Amino acid sequence: MSYRVPRGTFDILPEEVKIWHWVEKQAQEICRRYQYQEIRTPMFEHTELFVRGVGDTTDIVEKEMYTFNDRGNRSLTLRPEGTAGVVRAFVEHKMYAGPLPTKLYYFGPMFRYERPQAGRYRQFHQFGIETFGSQDPAIDAEVIALGMQFLESLGLKGVKVEINTVATPEIRARYFDKLIEYFTPFKEELAKDAQNRLYRNPMRILDSKDPRTKEIAAGAPSILDFLDEECAGYFEKVKEYLDLLEIPYVVNDRLVRGLDYYTHTAFEFVADLSGAQASTVGGGGRYNGLVQEIGGPEMPGVGFGLGIDRIILALKEQKVDIPVQDQLDCYVVTIGDKAKLYSVKLLKTLREAGFVCERDYLDRKVKGQMKAADREKARFVAILGEEELEQGNINMKCLETGEQEQISLDAIVDYLSNKIQP
Ligand code: ATP
Ligand code: MG
Repeated sequence: MSYRVPRGTFDILPEEVKIWHWVEKQAQEICRRYQYQEIRTPMFEHTELFVRGVGDTTDIVEKEMYTFNDRGNRSLTLRPEGTAGVVRAFVEHKMYAGPLPTKLYYFGPMFRYERPQAGRYRQFHQFGIETFGSQDPAIDAEVIALGMQFLESLGLKGVKVEINTVATPEIRARYFDKLIEYFTPFKEELAKDAQNRLYRNPMRILDSKDPRTKEIAAGAPSILDFLDEECAGYFEKVKEYLDLLEIPYVVNDRLVRGLDYYTHTAFEFVADLSGAQASTVGGGGRYNGLVQEIGGPEMPGVGFGLGIDRIILALKEQKVDIPVQDQLDCYVVTIGDKAKLYSVKLLKTLREAGFVCERDYLDRKVKGQMKAADREKARFVAILGEEELEQGNINMKCLETGEQEQISLDAIVDYLSNKIQP
């Protein structure tokens, strides 16, 4: 039998991992500047956490979770998203005791049983942030700004923010009634999952992907007409901050987000892409009810989740130049057994000094070793023959200029340090 990766998953091969490292580094650096700290939670949690935290009328919980019973007969689920686990940890470790706000980020694989296609996989990766403890609309704007800065630091062009408010549960309840009233005459024409949600969570019909349902939803009442003063004021403040930060956004009152615990701000990051690929690279919002839902105290929160796989696809589509660090400082070429033996020590010295170095392990002739140095894009080749070794010297050749000079073996670290910053 020939083995293949499971459907909807993929290997990230070494060349590609360089891109991932770079993307992860940008995320880390920006989080450091905004004072977000990394948290790592398990890849699986008790199923109930996601049913509670994500919401039982969401696509995720209804049909996308990898749920299994372990040998102790506990129902566990591979995490389909990052927020629920972070909130669970926040509550479990009583991080709500302060200092507040608590600003956290995560990076890692998520699992959803979906129909695989470009930008949609069964194992994918998210970079997400969560901040707990503040109701200041400035922090909603900061969360959006962090996401934007991350996407821009990668070189992604034409990213826009779509923003909406989902108000509060009380206002939503009133809005729900109006939506049900509106959608009921169209019931038979709606997609099946939209029909199922009509009475349970009609707002979810607004983000349906079914074309006819979308058409019908376009005429539905807008939540913006149902806001009270507080919700409208909060929304205005967030937009004011976005203006101040010069973040390009459009209000999209059909935007509801898939998760039920959101309050007030909801937003998505949309990339400018021509292809068939889904252009939403991430989304998030405020979730003032979630911490309590998971057994903690009343505690506001706001965050986002960005799909890294989609972002990398988008970078490729936009042909963004990705700076990968794969240079080799020095390739050590040896002639004869004594030199080969000595090179083992030489490499250790150079590596300890911070240089990226390599040598031959396939008994290649000098010509083959030089070729390997070329192939690996070495900046310098250090050529060591028996005679030089006896005299305590080594030949250094710069591959870019072709210049070659003999130096003392003891001086090699200083020599390379002068030529290259380790
Ligand atoms: P969609 O409407 O595309 O299904 P979603 O609303 O389910 O997205 P979220 O739960 O908000 O997505 O997740 C945030 C981001 O994670 C998405 O914008 C996307 O970039 C990424 N993402 C979600 N599901 C997948 C997947 N199956 N494969 C790859 N990326 C994904
Ligand atoms: Mg989805």
